[in-house]
Formats: sequence, C-alpha cells, structure tokens
Amino acid sequence: MNTQQDRGSILLIYTGGTIGMIENPETGVLESFNFQHLQDNMPELKRMGHTVSSIQFEPPVDSSEMGPESWAHLVQIIADNYDNYDGFVVLHGTDTMAFTASALSFMLENLAKPVIFTGSQLPIGMLRTDGKENLITAIEIAAAKENGIAVVPEVCIFFENYLMRGNRTTKINADHFNAFRSFNYPALAHAGIQIKYEYNLIYRPISRKPLKPHFLFDTNVVILKIFPGIPASVIEATLNIPGLKGVVLETFGSGNAPTYPWFLALLKDAVDKGVVIVNITQCTAGSVEMHRYDTGNKLLNCGVVSGYDSTTESAVAKLMFLFGHNFTAKEVKEYLDCSLIGEITNP
Ligand code: ASP
Repeated sequence: MNTQQDRGSILLIYTGGTIGMIENPETGVLESFNFQHLQDNMPELKRMGHTVSSIQFEPPVDSSEMGPESWAHLVQIIADNYDNYDGFVVLHGTDTMAFTASALSFMLENLAKPVIFTGSQLPIGMLRTDGKENLITAIEIAAAKENGIAVVPEVCIFFENYLMRGNRTTKINADHFNAFRSFNYPALAHAGIQIKYEYNLIYRPISRKPLKPHFLFDTNVVILKIFPGIPASVIEATLNIPGLKGVVLETFGSGNAPTYPWFLALLKDAVDKGVVIVNITQCTAGSVEMHRYDTGNKLLNCGVVSGYDSTTESAVAKLMFLFGHNFTAKEVKEYLDCSLIGEITNP
C-alpha cells in the first residue's frame, strides 16, 4: 500500500492482533485479514497526506505468539528500512505489546526516529472500533518533526489518547478502550483536539550515532511472584531450573518478602551460584526501596538487587537482553542499577 503526498513517510508494520482482524461470518471467531485490505477499511489514510507504506508479518500473529524471534524480525525490518522513512508505526496485539515495546527500546540503540506501537480492542472493520483513531494518531506522532528533527525519537505505545514510553507501559484492562497505563512515568503526549507533547519528558539521543540494531536474547529467565503461604518447594524448584540466569522477583509493596530462613537461604544460594535476582514490586505504581523495612533489607543482604520502579515487562526484557549479550552476572547487576533508555527512574 502506498498513499500520496509528502507530510513525512511512515512504514506501517502489521504484526497481528485484533486491530487487523475480521469476524469469520460462519464461526464468529476473529481471524487476521490481509493487511492490504486496510485501505478499504480506512480511506482516511489517503487523506492524511503522509506517504504510508506497509509490511506485514506472514502470517500475522496473535501477540501471545510474539517473543524474541519476532522481536528480532521486527528490529530487522526497522533496521533495513531505517533510512527510507521518517517514522515507524507497529500494529501489534495488545496482550504482549508492553513486552515487545520494552524489548525494542533496548534493541534499537541510538534510535533517532519514532517507533510507535498501537493496536486496538475492537477490529478496525467494526463500527465502534478504537483502531482507527489509534492508528491515525500514531501515524501523526510518528511523522511529527520540528526543525527537521523527530519530536518523539523513542519506542512508544500510543493508545486511547495517550502516548507512553514503551518500556514504562503495562496493559491494565482486557475490556476497556483505555487499556494501557504508564504508572511510574508521565505520558509523553496527550491527544485531544491537538496533540500536546511534553517535550521535557521525551528521551533524546545524546549523540548522533547511527542506529545500532541488536538481535540477541537469552530466555533463561523467570518471573517469580511471591504470595502469602508460598511453599518452599515452589521457590526451590524455580530457583533450581537448569540454566537459569535471571529472576524477576515480584514482591510486596516497596520490595518486601517473607523472612523465613529457608526462603532467604534459597535466594542466597541462587545468588551465590550466579543467578541475578531483581526485585520488582507487585504494586502497579511506586518503587522498590529495600532499605525501608527489615523484610526488604534481608533480601538485599542475600544479594537481591533492586529493580526500582521498573515494570515487570521491562525487567524481563532487560534481563533477556543483557544475558543475550553475554554479560556476566556482575555486569548485568551494574546495568540493572542504571537506566539504559529511560526504563527506570534513577534513585
Ligand atoms: N489477543 C490479541 C493479541 O494480543 C488481543 C489484541 O490484539 O488486543 O494479539
């Protein structure tokens, strides 16, 4: 698909998800349709005045099927087309969009152009779809420039009027149009009658180095969510998974967990064996502060490191990314302690 004029050129990458689906009239099941038909459902695209080209995953996938291989495919498409477009819009299922956006934020080093993820809760062919607005605004944002420079040179998620940093965003609702939130970092823009950008919150590359795409991930990580009464066998089995390198430990409140001696001993044992355990709060907002309570402090003494105010999605992607690049446990901990691309608030 190619639409006319020149208000910036955008590459639309359709990976799959509800936005590009139609209802099978016989079964009622939502199935992906060929993305070339997008224009039939969205004549508005022609009127926008941007040059819009599109590429689609073959076959398009539900975002539950997305993972490091598809992330690398996406990065390859962006890298191959980087010089030919002003910005990129990625249409993606909402379910794992926050994981993919987090991963891409680490994979696209020196990014100087917008990569805007969006999707929808209702397919674009349905009357009440949220997909059209999401897509049109995402294209506007991806094409926005001031003095020849991209306004938002970041990996972001645009959904239901808010532009959010991708590695700060979480899907919070399976039904509402307003499905995403960035709890620990303010929105980068709000789309009302006009799109109002928060310029001082947008990440800008410090140097003008060429894009450096990364493709490697190590998936030997696990999310371990603590709950009252969690059996020792669960912790023990998890921490002894063969080949395990990283654990996202989801704890209570500001980073607290039980202080049972067996629990602390298992954690310490894993850390001593070289497993990196990063502490993330189960709360939707706020930050881990292990010094605040004795329960958190005990984790610190076992060698657990703080994930600060990271989302779980971003912590998982960051661990996979760092281990994929063969950093040692010590180096991974050092990188976890700083923000690589705005994913945590530096203490
Ligand atoms: N299951 C779909 C997906 O994530 C839901 C959506 O697109 O919103 O691919």
